[in-house]
Amino acid sequence: MQHPYYTMNRLMHEHYGKKIRKICIDGGFTCPNRDGTCGTGGCTFCGERGAGEQLDPTKTIREQAEAVLSKAAPDSAWIVYFQNFTNTYAPVPVLRERYDAALTDERIKVLDIGTRPDCITEDIAAMMAEYAKKYEVWVELGLQTANDATADRINRGYHLPCFLNAVRLLKQYGLPVIVHVILGLPGETLDDVLHTIRTVNAVGADGIKIHSLFIMKNTVLAEQYLAGDFVPISMQTYIDWAIAALTHLSPDIVVHRMTGNCLRDQLLAPDWIIQRDLILTTIDRRMAADGLIQGCQYSGEACFM
Ligand code: SF4
Repeated sequence: MQHPYYTMNRLMHEHYGKKIRKICIDGGFTCPNRDGTCGTGGCTFCGERGAGEQLDPTKTIREQAEAVLSKAAPDSAWIVYFQNFTNTYAPVPVLRERYDAALTDERIKVLDIGTRPDCITEDIAAMMAEYAKKYEVWVELGLQTANDATADRINRGYHLPCFLNAVRLLKQYGLPVIVHVILGLPGETLDDVLHTIRTVNAVGADGIKIHSLFIMKNTVLAEQYLAGDFVPISMQTYIDWAIAALTHLSPDIVVHRMTGNCLRDQLLAPDWIIQRDLILTTIDRRMAADGLIQGCQYSGEACFM
């Protein structure tokens, strides 16, 4: 069954005529929201490995890339994804050295960099644009919500104008931006979710990653959950809200992900989060049954960039 939204798979077929897979890299960075530069403790949901629990930090960047590429077919195509923590949180020469360490093979087509908006400067955007002469370069920004009150509640460490500035800079340099959004954040309703989606539309984002908030062990959110201060949304609510988000999302925005990813032994709750196939299939079936597709309720938000 074809997804009723614009998937990354479809984008990659449009660009390369085939499926393209991802090599996830631990670039050896940390995060200014953890080391005291902008905050301590990090976002309340963030695990000890900064969303890189499945990566092997004992391997060098080159070893991580080669571990995958050495077994890959000669005609395969790859995205190198600097995944965990903040992958622009270092001086430009250090960033270059680390990105270059992964870009070892002609089969790599995309350099994908996950980061925070407060770690995007003009120098960094200009450096990334240099890579865009040879590779597709994507920049992933962890927004999670456009609501600053929620951002404070999850200790995100920056407010919406910072995100808007980062997107403006990246767009100035022609770099595609993928925005991370979380549904089910503390205190948020469907209205908050749709406000975030409208913001993503209005900044002219190129891609989006959506998932439901889940609770990892040994996080601030875990303490809140165990104290009864936070209750995660149900699978049913996630599916309802995810469908609403997709129908309000501009049809031009590529949907890179619709589920979260957490190692079972690290997950505290909710346990439905690991049923990724069921979640995706249910979204597809519900949308098909109701005659819904991505953007069918999109009203063309005025770009405020
Ligand atoms: S910005 Fe990312 S790495 Fe940093 S604390 Fe938040 S979730 Fe963790």
